[in-house]
Amino acid sequence: MTSIFTTKTIYEKSQDSEADANSQRLPSSPVTYQLRATPNWVKKPYHERNFWERVATLDLANDKCYTVQPQNPNPPPNLNVWRERIWLTMMIAPPLIIQACWYYIIPENNFFHTWHPIVAFIFYTAALIIFTINSIKRLTNYMNLYGTFDEHNRPRDYVDDKDVSRLILSVFIYIMIRTAGGLILGGYNRYTPPSLGHTISWSFPIKIGLWFIVLDFFFYSYHRSVHTFPFLWKIHRKHHSTKHPTPIQAILADDLQDIIEIIFIPLGASLVMPLSAHELWITQCILLYVEGVGHCGARAYWIHPVVGEVLRPFKMEITIEDHDLHHRHGKSGKNYGKQTRIFDQIFNTISERIECIEK
Ligand SMILES: [Zn+2]
Ligand SMILES: [Zn+2]
Repeated sequence: MTSIFTTKTIYEKSQDSEADANSQRLPSSPVTYQLRATPNWVKKPYHERNFWERVATLDLANDKCYTVQPQNPNPPPNLNVWRERIWLTMMIAPPLIIQACWYYIIPENNFFHTWHPIVAFIFYTAALIIFTINSIKRLTNYMNLYGTFDEHNRPRDYVDDKDVSRLILSVFIYIMIRTAGGLILGGYNRYTPPSLGHTISWSFPIKIGLWFIVLDFFFYSYHRSVHTFPFLWKIHRKHHSTKHPTPIQAILADDLQDIIEIIFIPLGASLVMPLSAHELWITQCILLYVEGVGHCGARAYWIHPVVGEVLRPFKMEITIEDHDLHHRHGKSGKNYGKQTRIFDQIFNTISERIECIEK
């Protein structure tokens, strides 16, 4: 169903005619534009959906998130960062504890005492898949609970029919590459189980913070470049075919962008700020969660669970609305960081928040 409505919000017109041809026009104020049509896979009953569509169903929030809502007069509520940290710990720690217990229980002279790298890869890939499913469910719950940013103008975008299988496959490839990369870059040693003060050092809270900031520097540089130089925009424009994304659309991209973002940017961060294999696995989980949060659009004030509180006094903390606005602006950009606003602040590329305004 297609409906038309007006809004007073000022949008910059996207310069990417190809990406926008299938979606919508975003002229300047006052705006009249069309909602995207509901894709066919969403209209099918669950039992008629194929494997890819059933997995993508995890990403669906309730119907309110896909219809225009009355303007919410209340400011977005705060998401308690400690609640998020406790949840992350409960999701991330069990696989590490299982491996540590295995090494403790199975005698050293037993053939099965140590985990070959392939066994570790399969185990941590499965663990990351479970983590991803739980993260998506958590984020869609937040969307249901709090509504979404800009919902009075335009609701969330469904994943297009043509993108469903590619998107889900990309998520699986993402998980496998990130798990393998973490084990290789972290120098996984089959004789060394996870342990605090050893494979997970006491300085890890500082190292992981630095890792996210270095990652954001590389990402900012790449991201601003693809928005600035027209010949590079084609790498990134697919990601901007949604103006109001959902968690799973964090990975909506063409092949080249996938390779750069899944492999090279975290590789750069890991070379500058080396972490152990177990530290990297924890880091990948938090990174995946942050990327999902940044695209869920849940109408709440959320801060990064690792670096948010440190950056907040300097107004350099990122929140959900920042990347949501980045998608609304399209090619004309602003808010290029995805972990922090450090570089957006330094290089003056911040787009002011509309709903998350500090009193
Ligand atoms: Zn972008
Ligand atoms: Zn995005």
